[in-house]
Amino acid sequence: MIILKTEQEIAIIREACRITASVFTAIKPEIKAGISTYELDQIVYNTIVSQNAIPAFLNYGDPPFPGSACISINEEVVHGIPSKNRCLKYGDIVSIDVGAEYNGYFGDACRTFSVGDVNPRWKKLVEVTEQSFWQGIKQVKKGNRLGDIGHAVQTHCENHGFGVIRDLTGHGIGANLHEDPNLLNYGRAGRGIRLEVGMVMCLEPMITEGSFHIQIMPDQWTIVTADGKAAAHYENTFAITQEGVEILTLTASERKQYAEELTQIENRAWA
Ligand code: MG
Repeated sequence: MIILKTEQEIAIIREACRITASVFTAIKPEIKAGISTYELDQIVYNTIVSQNAIPAFLNYGDPPFPGSACISINEEVVHGIPSKNRCLKYGDIVSIDVGAEYNGYFGDACRTFSVGDVNPRWKKLVEVTEQSFWQGIKQVKKGNRLGDIGHAVQTHCENHGFGVIRDLTGHGIGANLHEDPNLLNYGRAGRGIRLEVGMVMCLEPMITEGSFHIQIMPDQWTIVTADGKAAAHYENTFAITQEGVEILTLTASERKQYAEELTQIENRAWA
């Protein structure tokens, strides 16, 4: 069941999302060879807690997730567990997925960072994954359906020869971290549930340089590509209001970077 949100609820989610995005501002300068994923996780924890919010992933699920961020390197797709024994290496790509709960509502976002210079194919993978989010979000307009979003993401990534993971999807979000509907990164245009005011969702392309098959590691959390090739992940929470679409988990510098896209996407009245 899809739970539509009121303006008042979206105002709280907006704050949860602002806190979520602030993690990326804090962590970006720390992404360098030698830092452990545990140290990165401590930055995530402190950034969230210092703003009167709760790290949404900490102790989530069964077995309880033991970190505030999912930190996934290279062939790890999602849900990598922070560890003192795992350090970033020059040339890695690392995705940092973060959730924050504020006053009972959630925000959720992910970025994939490059550690120094990465090989051109991985660089392209990271770029295309990010671009595919923007292709998808442009489809969030009145009259469109969920399938239009997934179709746009899939088309963009497959046109670049990359794999679109099928077994993991975006999701609704609100008073729960994960709500209906599943927001697929693939699909057919014109199909699925119609988009409407009050929907708040996470669009999160998870894209590989090889096949889209995945497997879960013995730690019961870390998900890796089955063929061992690299994966990238990019996610934002967005809301549909009477004023139009609003992407809630961008940092101030990202809003500048994407100013042109944002003028096309946001502030187009829905009704
Ligand atoms: Mg998510």
